[in-house]
Amino acid sequence: MSAVSDSLPITETATPETQADVAQALRDAYAARRAVYPLGGGTSLDYGLAPKQPGLGLSLGALQRVIDYPSRDLTITVEAGITIAELTAAMAAEGQQLPIDLPHAQVATLGGAIATNWSGARRYGYGTLRDYIIGISAVDGRGTPFKAGGRVVKNVAGYDFCKLLTGSLGTLSVITQVTLKAKPRPQRSAFAVAAVNNLAAASALLDALASSATTPVAIELIAGIAWSDISGELLPAGDLRIVVGLEGTAAEVDWMREQLAREWQPLGQSPEFITADLQVSALWTALNDFSSGPSELTVKINVLPSRAAELVGVVRELDATASIQAHAGNGIVLARFNELPPGGMLATMVKRLQPAARAAGGSAVILSANSGERTAQAVWGSPAADWPLMRAVKKQFDPHNILNPGRFVY
Ligand SMILES: Cc1cc2nc3c(=O)[nH]c(=O)nc-3n(C[C@H](O)[C@H](O)[C@H](O)COP(=O)(O)OP(=O)(O)OC[C@H]3O[C@@H](n4cnc5c(N)ncnc54)[C@H](O)[C@@H]3O)c2cc1C
Repeated sequence: MSAVSDSLPITETATPETQADVAQALRDAYAARRAVYPLGGGTSLDYGLAPKQPGLGLSLGALQRVIDYPSRDLTITVEAGITIAELTAAMAAEGQQLPIDLPHAQVATLGGAIATNWSGARRYGYGTLRDYIIGISAVDGRGTPFKAGGRVVKNVAGYDFCKLLTGSLGTLSVITQVTLKAKPRPQRSAFAVAAVNNLAAASALLDALASSATTPVAIELIAGIAWSDISGELLPAGDLRIVVGLEGTAAEVDWMREQLAREWQPLGQSPEFITADLQVSALWTALNDFSSGPSELTVKINVLPSRAAELVGVVRELDATASIQAHAGNGIVLARFNELPPGGMLATMVKRLQPAARAAGGSAVILSANSGERTAQAVWGSPAADWPLMRAVKKQFDPHNILNPGRFVY
């Protein structure tokens, strides 16, 4: 977790208590052309490029109320500074959930999660935050409050607007309030796990999972030292493991277990199952927290799902001791390097990982790095065809470029 003062040039922090306070702070900053850095829980403030312009930290911590929770409609409206843990607890009390897996849930906020569009292992089964936001209130870079979407799941107006703000890293507006779709909590959660001898065997199992009659919520390929703590107790011995999350009614989960065993038999594999609540919850926690573990350089690679195992191989060629969690069903490979590969951070990103990811239909970005120069190319990759469009959108929302200036591609 990054300390706010380490990562952002903040000279003063304001803690508004209402959306009107947020709007006033932004109107003042717009008039003074002063940079504003929205702050959630501060867990991923070193993500992106390091901004150089001093400015105001705008903490959303006091905007943390549950505004409305008509649980029978499966929707909830909350303020953006609510922590993920508080939101999870409120929804659990109604037997519901927002199935987004986040590290540091005790401090990470909903606004920060939306701004970074973070998602974890269960995105394979449940999708990402974008799929759950049906309404958003925010304040733009002129200090003008606006609303998009609504409180009804079928409300189409403004739908794309919610999606636009999701993942925009707080560069288009400050999110103050959000209406989310809720999902019922599953009756049963379990894992099927297997050790595999090599990446070819891993690929064969992943292919089988992609065309399985079962409906896993997570398909993970994990490797490296980071998993050794939980190996003895939970996971079969080995360096490469496949971890499959199964959720649903008790009958559905039982059926999926039997079916997976049948499907893997011709591949010479028989899954082990983790079903005890405490163990299941320990493994979910380990999967959720992986990206925030110790590392010299943490990278996120997005490729076609069919190429995920190949990229795991590329990472291991660079650092045989790297710890890896691939959301293989989604083609996302998270890699924690124990030491910087030869050539340093820039060469690792620009000469090795980004070209390999491009060749596999995707991209590679830095999530965190202890040392090395963070150039735009190292962090975000080569300029993409959509960057001019992104800059044009930014101008509309934030004409003086006061919101998180310099952190993204503008
Ligand atoms: C690419 C990426 C890298 C990540 N890296 C790590 C990591 O290294 N370690 C880790 O533990 N977790 C990491 N995460 C996950 C992180 O924990 C979650 O994204 C978390 O939700 C951030 O919430 P926060 O409240 O701590 O946000 P913060 O860290 O406080 O803010 C994150 C970003 O969101 C903006 N923001 C915050 N609130 C608002 C708001 N209400 N309106 C507009 N903008 C806002 C901030 O200005 C900042 O740009 C990463 C996520 C992503 C997408």
